[in-house]
Amino acid sequence: MKTLIKNAWVLTMNEQMEQFPNGYLMVDDEKISEAGTMDSLPKAVSYDRCIDAKGAILLPGMVNTHTHIGMIPFRSLGDDYPDRLRRFLFPLENECMNEQLAYTSGKYAIAEMQLAGVTTFFDMYYFEQQLAEAADEMHSRALLAESVIDTVTVDVPDPMGGLQYAEEFLPKWQGHHRIQASIGPHAPYSNTIEVLQKADALSKKYDVPWMMHVSEMDFELEKYRKERNQTPVEFLEEIGVLSSRLVAAHCIHLTDHDIELLKKYDVKVAHCIGANTKSAKGVARVRDLINAGVIVGLGTDGPSSGNTLDLFSQMRMFANFHKTYLHDRSAFPAEQIVKLATIGGAKALGLEEQIGTIEAGKQADFILVETDSVNMFPIYDPYSALVYSANAGNVRDVFIDGKQVVSGKKLADADLAQLRAELSEAMEQCGFRRKALQALNK
Ligand SMILES: [Zn+2]
Repeated sequence: MKTLIKNAWVLTMNEQMEQFPNGYLMVDDEKISEAGTMDSLPKAVSYDRCIDAKGAILLPGMVNTHTHIGMIPFRSLGDDYPDRLRRFLFPLENECMNEQLAYTSGKYAIAEMQLAGVTTFFDMYYFEQQLAEAADEMHSRALLAESVIDTVTVDVPDPMGGLQYAEEFLPKWQGHHRIQASIGPHAPYSNTIEVLQKADALSKKYDVPWMMHVSEMDFELEKYRKERNQTPVEFLEEIGVLSSRLVAAHCIHLTDHDIELLKKYDVKVAHCIGANTKSAKGVARVRDLINAGVIVGLGTDGPSSGNTLDLFSQMRMFANFHKTYLHDRSAFPAEQIVKLATIGGAKALGLEEQIGTIEAGKQADFILVETDSVNMFPIYDPYSALVYSANAGNVRDVFIDGKQVVSGKKLADADLAQLRAELSEAMEQCGFRRKALQALNK
């Protein structure tokens, strides 16, 4: 089926950053077949369906490089408590998290991302088999990494059981068009060296990126400094697990040598400015990373850490925090930030051949951001409008692999009210809400 999108402000995000202010896009089944100015559209062009963008900004779907989609129930719980991890998160996770809760949370989270223009995400949590099914059913593009941590977890009875889970999970999704199964050791300090090396080996065997939180916590840096006189990144190099397949989330605290190592091994960084600053952990050295040639993508972290899964809020926070941190208003112009949210994320996940730009031959993952709303007038520069004026509520239409998943700001094939009711029911069944309120009132 051929779909023509006409009268759009097309941002290709290609190497030359070409844009077509009055442009069109032609989609042939699941791929982009051409893009250009309306003037260049042949008069006799044939198509099965035509969408009038009415001046909306058309850009590649956004890539959220770090999520925990099973954690929607935790959103807004104990946000300002310094001990929230131990007071709320771990106990509630142990007592309540189950297959049904993870799955219904995953579907809800994916709906939230799609409505916000996120077409691809890299997740790390438990019950990733169910989350992969959720992503498949919602027609998202996703990488899903089963967490591994050296304690008993909610989905595997043995400590380190996540490794065995991953060994069975990875081959199941081999060859799937949109879904890749992966492994995500929680962090260097919460796993044995053997597990970290096995995770790296598994990712190599199945040729899939893997994910880990790196250089995020103050105690993590302290531990490696005291015990080994190293940074976490130096430790990971020594045990031989740095590679272009590793997506390191956060990397807040980096030395110059760490940055050299990340570049040397082509490690990718998932930068989560919203979560990192909400938790008062710090602002990562993203300008230094990019100047050194390290690939960086944007991530939201989980809905408990960052409260949202949309990248519009992250782009805005990225601009504000990095400009302030660098005392430089001109740092990170808007178009560079939109790049990080699209092609940057695609490169971080090794998907730049398939997605991340509007170019003929690529998979048709793209979004339309309407310009009719009160906050979207006037527009002098579309990148500025996206970073500083727009919000997720301006996303009008979303396509993944040529299939429309959001139409006129609504899910095309799913019912948000129903997804919410199902999640709410799963939260009731395991007593999540009751126990969360008890913990708050302790
Ligand atoms: Zn995280």
